[in-house]
Formats: sequence, C-alpha cells, structure tokens
Amino acid sequence: MSTESAVIAIDGPAAAGKSTVARELARELGFNYVNTGAMYRAVAVAVREAGMESYGGGDFLERLKALLAAADIGVAAGRVTLNGRDLGESLNARGIDDLASRLSALAPVREKMRAMQRRIAVDGAVVMEGRDVGTVIFPEARFKFFLDAQPEVRAQRRFAQLAAAGAKTTLGEVLQQLVERDQRDSSREIAPLKPAPDAIVIDSSALSVKAVVGRMKAFVAEGKKDRGS
Ligand code: C5P
Repeated sequence: MSTESAVIAIDGPAAAGKSTVARELARELGFNYVNTGAMYRAVAVAVREAGMESYGGGDFLERLKALLAAADIGVAAGRVTLNGRDLGESLNARGIDDLASRLSALAPVREKMRAMQRRIAVDGAVVMEGRDVGTVIFPEARFKFFLDAQPEVRAQRRFAQLAAAGAKTTLGEVLQQLVERDQRDSSREIAPLKPAPDAIVIDSSALSVKAVVGRMKAFVAEGKKDRGS
C-alpha cells in the first residue's frame, strides 16, 4: 500500500467533532491517530513561551524561523511534546487556539508542519485530522472526509467542554471566537480551510459520534471493495 492510500484525512472547521471521531475511527481500524491542530498549538505554546506572542518587531519572521528550527515538536500516541516536555493541557490554555490560527497562516510554520506530517505517515496507516490534510498534506489520500456542523452546534459543544473544564466564558463569546477563527482559517492564502474537491462532506449537526464513525467506516469498507482488496 502506498503511503497516501494508508491515510484517512479528516478536515473541517473548529469544534466540528473531528478529534473525537478521528480518534475513535483510528481505534476501530487499528490505525495511528494524529491531531495536526495540536501540532499548530504546540508552535503557539513555543511562541508564547519565547515571549513573542505580541511581538510586532520587523524581524518577527526571522525570529520565528529560528524558534521553529530549534523547537523539537514530537507527536506520538496522541501526545504532543515540545523539547521533550508533554504539553498536555497547555495546548488548551486560553488564547492558544487563536494564536495557533494566526501563526498557521505563515509559510515557515506551515512548511515545518507539512514536512513533519508527511513523515509521520511513513510509520504506518494513519487517521490524520486538521484543516488541510486532504487538500495539501496528502492530496492523494484514499479517503478524505470534511466534517462540518452548524456554527451554533459547534459553539454549544465547545462551550460544554470549556464549562466542564471550569473555564469562565459565555456561549456567545465561544460562538464569536469560533466564527472568527474559521473565517481567518478559510481566507488565508496558504492552505486555506476548505473541502478537497473529492472529499466526502458529512454534516454532524444532528449526528452522534457513533453515527459519524459508522458512516466513515462504511465508506472505507466500500472503497476497499471497489479496489478488490
Ligand atoms: O484543530 P485545532 O482547533 O486544535 O487547530 C488550531 C488551529 O491550528 C486552527 O484554527 C488552524 O488555524 C490551525 N490548523 C491549521 N491546519 C491544520 C490544523 C490546524 O492551520 N491542519
């Protein structure tokens, strides 16, 4: 099997349920699971820790490139490490999602992530979720899904997660931030968030995790049959 036929790409906007679905699909198929959003968040943590979060100096890109060259980001078994340290909950710290989104529009960041993500698939079959997995990272992936849901539904899900974790926020604030982040991710010049032309679009607004995973598995089984394997 070529590398790309062993990749299942799941892209889509924030809080569409990609992580839950991708993790479960990978478990059921015995594939590795990779959350590329967590990798962009790791870059954001590195930038914040270097004190560059609100740095507006003219040499920002040069400093960012040096930071990226020195940052050892690791992904294994669903965990993301930065220079050997498990980032755990710091990936969900306030504002890291937004910072990741702003940084992810920059070419040096995307180049580093692309190279890492392409390398990961060499280790075996993988379910990889993100924004550009089916369009840019693995355009030849055998299975591509674009998981969407209505903004209000996504905001409600994210709000419930945040509330359970004790975060102080409102549904309206969560909705506004999601919409702004999706808008930025969809309108950037490099690797914008959009379904690949051959992606299977699934709207999860009214579907359970089990139903979405079931649908994806049916496509995978069907696709395998088509190829006679
Ligand atoms: O998926 P998650 O919300 O953790 O992603 C955080 C941010 O990382 C996204 O808003 C997006 O800007 C960026 N990202 C990306 N390409 C990916 C995955 C995430 O640009 N493949």
